[in-house]
Amino acid sequence: MEKILQIQREHFQTGATRPASARREALDSLRRGIKQHEQALLEALKEDLGKSATEAYMTEIGLALSEIRYVKRHLKRWMRPQRKASPLTNFPARSKVTCEPYGVVLIIAPWNYPFLLLISPLIGALAAGNCCVLKPSELAPATAAAVTRMMEETFPREYVAIVNGGVEESQALLDQDFDYIFYTGSPAVGRIVMEKAARHLTPVTLELGGKSPVVVTRSANLRTAARRIVFGKFLNAGQTCIAPDYVLCEQSVHEPFVRMLREELTAMYGPRPLDNPDYGKIINRRHFDRLCLLMDKAKVAAGGETQPERLRIAPTILTGVVPTDAVMQEEIFGPLLPVLSVRDDEEAFRFIQARPHPLALYLFTSDKAVEKRFMTGLEFGGGCVNDVISHIVPHNLPFGGVGQSGMGAYHGHDSFLTFSHRKAIVRRGTWPDIPLRYPPYRDWKERAVRWLF
Ligand code: NAD
Repeated sequence: MEKILQIQREHFQTGATRPASARREALDSLRRGIKQHEQALLEALKEDLGKSATEAYMTEIGLALSEIRYVKRHLKRWMRPQRKASPLTNFPARSKVTCEPYGVVLIIAPWNYPFLLLISPLIGALAAGNCCVLKPSELAPATAAAVTRMMEETFPREYVAIVNGGVEESQALLDQDFDYIFYTGSPAVGRIVMEKAARHLTPVTLELGGKSPVVVTRSANLRTAARRIVFGKFLNAGQTCIAPDYVLCEQSVHEPFVRMLREELTAMYGPRPLDNPDYGKIINRRHFDRLCLLMDKAKVAAGGETQPERLRIAPTILTGVVPTDAVMQEEIFGPLLPVLSVRDDEEAFRFIQARPHPLALYLFTSDKAVEKRFMTGLEFGGGCVNDVISHIVPHNLPFGGVGQSGMGAYHGHDSFLTFSHRKAIVRRGTWPDIPLRYPPYRDWKERAVRWLF
């Protein structure tokens, strides 16, 4: 690892990764690499997570390709130095901000979108002119192997290197002196990453998780809400960081809403979802067992079936759930959807306010006043009104958490800024050189300084 870091630092110091042309070429190579390995990547995602080709393309490969296109289109403008006004106290001067690459950056990815969450930050890091070390998740081994082959054929190691392994390798990487660390994963490991980064004073972005609530109010279009929530929750078998974790539904519409959830489940996945080839699997036995323990059989309103040998859990709706239930104590990260009944939107507001800031918040309502109260009165990473998940799609929106759900943001221009240091430069003219600031100080100088400030 020390060797990789050393050759990358040497490569970075040659300046080869800085010109716009080199950055564009790197993005082109990445796009070609993805296209050439697309089939192998789709197969790997099927093997690791049971993702259908449509879902894998829609949520991983397609998103990465379209982000490359977007970044390439805007890169020249983003790289341009920004002129700033200069204050009179600096006269004569010109001021500007330039975006400079950090140097050698480390990107650590989780297993749930094992391709996208490695490649999407990489796009920003390359666009900003950095060298990169990638650490895929060991829990999605087929994808890690496919991405490794792709990267080794696409980039020399001094530009983009990939290190495989588990906790030990990840920690050994974190012990190195990187210039930037970009971590996606659980809040627990996020703390370890930040502690390790602190030793070298390395800046970090932490893309974490947590329990993302959905609020369904009495003024919501219930049919649309049910359809969109079922889609967003059971995508990737619920193993999505911004999946709706639980629903807070107003009492007065609880019953019809749960009925519609059931109907939409059947419409999307059929009467036997476990046999549906479009429906994904749980990543491993440990998570499968964890989810089974969270499922209180007495509260199952739909689903509940499991196939331990195939690591499958049917899309499951739980009703009558109370805040003290096990399923409400941790991020579910699987296909269980608890629906809690609340008296009104005010109770839902206070429920969310009393808990850590979520990564995402979703609100279904047609009441503008309720919308304003939730969107401006609560802290959360990002979210949607009358939809779930779709705030991750536009490349021109920042994506990231706040508080327990993370720090920093990326995607599109925000990725470019995340992986760039914004350097301030003042270019002073040499004439006139007004002597105000130079000693010896006199009364007239002080009066002038006071006036100027
Ligand atoms: P994971 O277990 O695959 O861990 C992520 C990475 O951290 C892996 O590369 C792993 O090798 C490394 N790692 C694990 N333990 C470590 C340790 N003790 N020290 C150093 N490195 C270690 O993935 P996960 O953490 O189970 O991912 C799931 C979590 O990630 C959920 O909380 C989810 O919400 C969150 N998540 C967030 C986003 C986001 O964009 N904000 C996206 C996906 C997942």
